[in-house]
Amino acid sequence: MDNKFTIYNTMSRRKEEFEPLNPPFVGLYVCGPTVYGDAHLGHARPAITFDVLFRYLQYLGYKVRYIRNITDVGHLTNDSDDGEDKIEKKAKLDRLEPMEIVQFYTNRYHKNMEQLNTLSPSIEPHASGHIIEQQELIKKILENGFAYESDGSIYFDVEAYNKKYPYGKLSGRKVEELFANTRQLDGQNEKRNPFDFALWKKASPEHIMRWPSPWSDGFPGWHLECSCMSQKYLGDTFDIHGGGLDLQFPHHECEIAQSTAAYGHEAVRYWMHNNMITINGQKMGKSLGNFITLDQLFSGENDVLEQAYSPMTVRFFILQAHYRSPLDFSNEALQAAEKGHERLMATMEVLERLKPSDKNTVHVDELVEKCFQAMNDDLNTPTLISHLFDGVRMINSVAAGQEHIDAANLDKLKKLYHDLVFTILGLKKENESAGKDHEVLGKVLDMVMSIRTEAKQKKDWATSDKIRDELKAAGVNVKDTKEGYEWSVE
Ligand code: ZN
Repeated sequence: MDNKFTIYNTMSRRKEEFEPLNPPFVGLYVCGPTVYGDAHLGHARPAITFDVLFRYLQYLGYKVRYIRNITDVGHLTNDSDDGEDKIEKKAKLDRLEPMEIVQFYTNRYHKNMEQLNTLSPSIEPHASGHIIEQQELIKKILENGFAYESDGSIYFDVEAYNKKYPYGKLSGRKVEELFANTRQLDGQNEKRNPFDFALWKKASPEHIMRWPSPWSDGFPGWHLECSCMSQKYLGDTFDIHGGGLDLQFPHHECEIAQSTAAYGHEAVRYWMHNNMITINGQKMGKSLGNFITLDQLFSGENDVLEQAYSPMTVRFFILQAHYRSPLDFSNEALQAAEKGHERLMATMEVLERLKPSDKNTVHVDELVEKCFQAMNDDLNTPTLISHLFDGVRMINSVAAGQEHIDAANLDKLKKLYHDLVFTILGLKKENESAGKDHEVLGKVLDMVMSIRTEAKQKKDWATSDKIRDELKAAGVNVKDTKEGYEWSVE
C-alpha cells in the first residue's frame, strides 16, 4: 500500500507519518483504569480507540507490545495529593481488603472488555507490583536534583525542572500561569509550590496500603507508575502513549516531567488522546445523576436509558465518531448505531452468499483504496464506516441482480469487508457471543435449509413444513429473505 499511516501527535499538534523506532516492533502504552468501581461509558472509549490502533498496527504487519496498566494504589480522591486513596476508601466502605476491591473490579473490567470485543493487552502491569521499580525511579529523580524530601514524602520540584526543561508543553500550560492560577500555600503544606506533585507519600498511621522505603513507610504517587512501567517494559524511549484527554493534565504532563527528569530525554515519540463522551451534552458524573456503567448499558437498567444496548452497538457507536472528536451519548444516537450495526452485519451475510458473474460492473479497487485511506488518516473510522456503507449499496445491488461482480473482484470485496469489519474494527455479529456452538448451529441450519429448499422445489410441502415447524419447536426462528434466509434463537 503506498499511502502511509499517519497519526495525530498531541505533542506536535499535527498529523505525523507513523515510523516506529525499531520496526517491525512497536511499543504502545495506554493508561488503564483505577479499579475501585465498575467500568462506565467513559472507559469504553479509550479501550476501543486503542484496541483499533492495536489491531490496525498488527494488520499492517507490526509486532506490537501493548501495555495497559491497572492502577491499584496511589490514585487519590484529590489531585492536590491530600485526598484518600480511591481503592482504600472503597475497601473501607465495603469492609474488604484493598486487594479484594482490586481483584473484584479488575475481573469485572476484563469481562466488560471481552464483551466489547477488545483484545487483551500484551502485558497488564499493576502499580502495586512495581513498588521497588518506582522507588528506584524516585532515587534517580532525586539524584538529578528534580525532587525534594519533605517530612518523609518526596515531591517533584516543578520549578527546578522548568529551569532546564519546559514543563507543560503537552497541554500548552506555562508554569508562570499555573503559579498565578493556584492558591498560595499556607504554612502547613509540605510542598514548596502548589503544583509540585508527590512521587512518594508518607502514609498516615491509619493508611493500609503502605510499603517501606528509604524515606518513610508510604506509597507511590499516581503519576509515577506510568513512567516506571512504560520504561520497564518498553524502554526509556518508546513509540506510542495513549489515554483519554482528561489525563493530559496533570497525569501525562507529570509523566513527561518524571521520565525526562530521570533519563534526560522524553520517553514518548507519539502522544495520542481520545476525546470525552458527554451525556445529552453534559459531562458524565456520579453527582450529575447521569452516570452509566457498561453493565447498565448492556442490561438497560438505568433511568437515563430507554432500552438495553448491546456491546456491539456501543462499539459501533464509538467507532462512528472520530476518536479526537467529542461524542455525545443519547438514546437516539445509540438506537441509530444499533440499526447501523445490524445493517452492516446483515450485509456481511449477503456478501457471503453472493455468486460471481462473468462480467463485472462494480468498482472494488476504488472502494479498497478509499477505505484504507480513511484508516491511514489518523484512524478515521467514521469516514471508513461511511465508505463501508457505500459498499453495502454495491453489495445489495449485486444481490438484486442490478450490478455484476466477477470472481476476482468478489474475493477482493469479501477480504476487504472481513479484514475491516471483523479484524480491524473488531465488530462481530451480536449472537456470536455464543461462540463455537453458534457457528456449528449455523452450519447445521445451512444444511437443513438446503434440504428444505430441495423439498420445496420438488413441491414436497409436507417435508418443508415439517422442517419449519420443528425448527420453531426447537426455538429457532427462520425467516425467508430475498437473499436466502435469516435465523435467530429465541
Ligand atoms: Zn497513566
